[in-house]
Amino acid sequence: MFEKVLQEIYKESKLQPKIGEIATYIPELANVNPDKFGISLLTLDGEEINLGDANERFSIQSISKPLTLSLAFTFLGEKIWERVGVEPSGSPFNSLVQLEYEKGIPRNPFINAGALVIADILVTHLKNPKTNFINFLREISDINTLDYDLSVAKSEASTGFRNIALANFLKSFGNITNNVDEVLDFYFHQCSISMSCSELNKVFYFFANEGVTLNGKEILNRSQIKRMNALMQSCGFYDESGEFTYRVGLPGKSGVGGGIVAMLPKKFIVSTWSPRLNSNGNSELGMFALEQLTTKTGMSIF
Ligand code: GLN
Repeated sequence: MFEKVLQEIYKESKLQPKIGEIATYIPELANVNPDKFGISLLTLDGEEINLGDANERFSIQSISKPLTLSLAFTFLGEKIWERVGVEPSGSPFNSLVQLEYEKGIPRNPFINAGALVIADILVTHLKNPKTNFINFLREISDINTLDYDLSVAKSEASTGFRNIALANFLKSFGNITNNVDEVLDFYFHQCSISMSCSELNKVFYFFANEGVTLNGKEILNRSQIKRMNALMQSCGFYDESGEFTYRVGLPGKSGVGGGIVAMLPKKFIVSTWSPRLNSNGNSELGMFALEQLTTKTGMSIF
């Protein structure tokens, strides 16, 4: 049922002016062709459509954040909100300003400060954090080749001065409990994972399927997955979360690699990849394509 509309959106998207810049502050990301474009949609009743570069892997970057959050939530449950808030920040993803006033409790788990706290929680609860986390993703998707891109992780570590500052600032408030370098190393690795649009849909399936993965594992219960999706809706696009909600009307998460994943709970998951970013660090063409999808089909949570 989605084939025709997606073909149409794909064609229209390819005709759009080339707006936005590829992220270069992580040197390794600058090597990607800015004109790549893929779109993939997977419905809960099994229809799958892949267009353009939907099967090519790219750096998922902040799209890893709902995944680390979900795993950390399985360990701490509601106690997790003692360490991180659930409010949109209205500030850029790498901002430090609010932390000073809020005594080291990041506004939400998707800004970098919040994701670093979540990384700290995983470093505490996992025996071999990096190995255990990538195995978790392989297990929920049955995609055994998922992996870290070590050159991207190394590249970000070499220029990640803001994240290094954030982690140290959080540590000064006592909201990083492990060694700062170990937490940053985990964070740079989670951001370096490569996936294609089609793989993202499989990994993110449980967000649309009431907490149950494509291969039938219950990660979180219905009420917990509601919380994860609510956070993606209100905070998934940083200081552009309102705009994404207004234009697209789906919970989702973006990354500076140019990917976006979004879902209509109980119906479908959709991923786009186009590396040109707007000034808020979100994929310009990805947002266009998703806006077209919910506008043309009338299928959004609103
Ligand atoms: N690794 C990136 C960073 O920490 C992720 C940012 C993003 O994708 N918005 O800056």
